[in-house]
Amino acid sequence: MSEPSIMMGGRSRERTPEPLTFLKCLSCGVENSRPFKENDYVLKIVEDEKCPKCGGTRSKIVNIYVPEKKESK
Ligand SMILES: [Zn+2]
Repeated sequence: MSEPSIMMGGRSRERTPEPLTFLKCLSCGVENSRPFKENDYVLKIVEDEKCPKCGGTRSKIVNIYVPEKKESK
């Protein structure tokens, strides 16, 4: 493994926990989760996420899970 000589971007080792958004497909009712995106909120109807089960493109955000920030000291 060769190490890159330049660090990409500016976010170096920040321990920001990534929130998860839970979507429920409006066609088949299956729930999926994905990383939180800007402007996500509970009960929002999302129309650009494809359901992996039925291929439907409309889903509703049913939950947003934010992991607690833990600092290991
Ligand atoms: Zn579906």
